[in-house]
Amino acid sequence: MNLVLPLDNGSTLNISVRTSSRAKRLRLVSSIKGVVAVAPENYNPDSLQEFVQSKKDWIAKTSDYYSGLRQRAGHAESEQVIYYLGKKFEFKIIKDRTDFATVSESLNLITFHVPDRRSYKVQIQWWYRRQTAQIIAARLPELSRQMNLQYNKFSIKKQKSRWASCSKKKNLNFNLLLAAAPADVIDYVVIHELAHILVMDHSKRFWKIVETFDPDFKSHKTWLEDHSPVIGIEDL
Ligand SMILES: [Zn+2]
Repeated sequence: MNLVLPLDNGSTLNISVRTSSRAKRLRLVSSIKGVVAVAPENYNPDSLQEFVQSKKDWIAKTSDYYSGLRQRAGHAESEQVIYYLGKKFEFKIIKDRTDFATVSESLNLITFHVPDRRSYKVQIQWWYRRQTAQIIAARLPELSRQMNLQYNKFSIKKQKSRWASCSKKKNLNFNLLLAAAPADVIDYVVIHELAHILVMDHSKRFWKIVETFDPDFKSHKTWLEDHSPVIGIEDL
């Protein structure tokens, strides 16, 4: 079900309504894909209308924010795209006996062959995990040597809201979606985490170390901030 909300600037906004048996009360969820109203199964349509009206300002603001992000990342709403090494690729899902993926730079297309179409997201996740593991396994020892900083071990994890982390035991975790970023941005993330071995906080001293090994770190940081919502850490 959809709800059409007239905005003060004369435009209208579509809000999709989703019911959930777990929802206790009405709430709104905003993401790069739009605004969704989540309602308990026995919700009253009038109070939903009222609720949405009362949140009109917030809805207008959040929609503006996400449409800005979509534009900056050059991302249309309904495109089937994924990022790989900083480039946008279209992707296709093909049913096959085994799972594998082919990347065509010339067609700008990644084809995922999957035994079961319904679980294609899991396959994409595994694919990202393998790509990220390969890159980190190559770059981490190299950058660790250059920076002369020793880590304990690393793992590739599914993390919803962070790109990487460093523990007190010097164990480094990297988000499995990191292979979506350009190579120099991945290097920045590795340098950032290695620098945490020396300085745990984000003080001036910390950023000085990062800058020494990545003079362009500010633009790499911005790339991640701009693209995190479109790469869809939450979606996969
Ligand atoms: Zn940090």
